[in-house]
Amino acid sequence: MTLLEKYKDLLPVNSKTPIISLGEGFTPLIETKHLGRMFGIDLFLKYEGTNPTGSFKDRGMVMAIAKALEEGAKSVICASTGNTSASAAAYAAAFDLKAVVVIPAGKIAMGKLAQAMIYGAKVIQVDGNFDDCLNIVKKVSEDYPVVLVNSLNPNRLEGQKTAAFEIVDILGRSPDYHFLPVGNAGNITAYWMGYTQYHKGGKISFLPRMMGFQAEGAAPIVRGHVVEKPETVATAIRIGNPASWKKAEKARDESHGIIDMVSDEEILNAQRMIASEEGIFCEPASASSVAGIVKMAKKGLFRGGEVVVATLTGNGLKDPDAVLNATPNIVTIPNDVKALVKEVGF
Ligand SMILES: *Cc1c(COP(=O)(O)O)cnc(C)c1O
Repeated sequence: MTLLEKYKDLLPVNSKTPIISLGEGFTPLIETKHLGRMFGIDLFLKYEGTNPTGSFKDRGMVMAIAKALEEGAKSVICASTGNTSASAAAYAAAFDLKAVVVIPAGKIAMGKLAQAMIYGAKVIQVDGNFDDCLNIVKKVSEDYPVVLVNSLNPNRLEGQKTAAFEIVDILGRSPDYHFLPVGNAGNITAYWMGYTQYHKGGKISFLPRMMGFQAEGAAPIVRGHVVEKPETVATAIRIGNPASWKKAEKARDESHGIIDMVSDEEILNAQRMIASEEGIFCEPASASSVAGIVKMAKKGLFRGGEVVVATLTGNGLKDPDAVLNATPNIVTIPNDVKALVKEVGF
């Protein structure tokens, strides 16, 4: 069964909506082997890196593309820090739409750029940041016959909320806390939509606290003002003026949660810890969720035994530079068995 089929009664799917799929959704909710114990909590990682293009963007994109097809659209456009462009390009390729993706020049992780190119999208770099790109594509989609598939498109958030459904369907309850990265703030909004929809439908008896984390150099919601020149290694959340700013604040306040920030060092430490403790390689932006857990655990948030979910939004293979740049050189030995034995210390 496909994602749109499974949740069709809870999505804007009608008899005219094409039920398309590239195999998105149904991502693993992995119970941690070490990290949860370190903090005295039951910690689960919702690993979105197994989606067809390697990030949660596919959940929203499948819905946005299905609705675009339903409306008879011929082309789609988006601004992107990388993953939205990879996803839009893939779905457009498979379902016969032209895709135009607009990205900040020189600020896209290598794997994501390669994806957009190989899927055959028209890739255009702007000499500016993500927020500049979004302003341009918004204007173009208002004036020309092309569908905007950024998370301003409400169908994106509708599709993305299915991640919250999947978590509840597996846990049989709502988590006490849900940690996730915040960039354009669409995903925290979408999860909150999903949890509240399940709550209204009687599937869960209480709602989780939404715990969003921005990067220190790109933390407009935390600081309370637009950040003109956002900077962080976590390129997927390198955003200074989030499109869903107000909705994210509403999710935070209604859920009695927080939106806070973590440094690049905390993000990269968390990325390494998730890999070395749990065997999961996520991209830097994704690790800000776990960096947030580390920060809140130090502050004494947890009493013990809480059920906590952290979303790992994207696959680490998209951005190998982020790891290699921070890793010591690999040892080279002569072509010799003894040299290997000596080096390993057997
Ligand atoms: C898009 C993205 C985010 C940020 O999500 P928003 O909905 O923009 O807040 C975080 N991590 C990854 C890997 C992403 O692709």
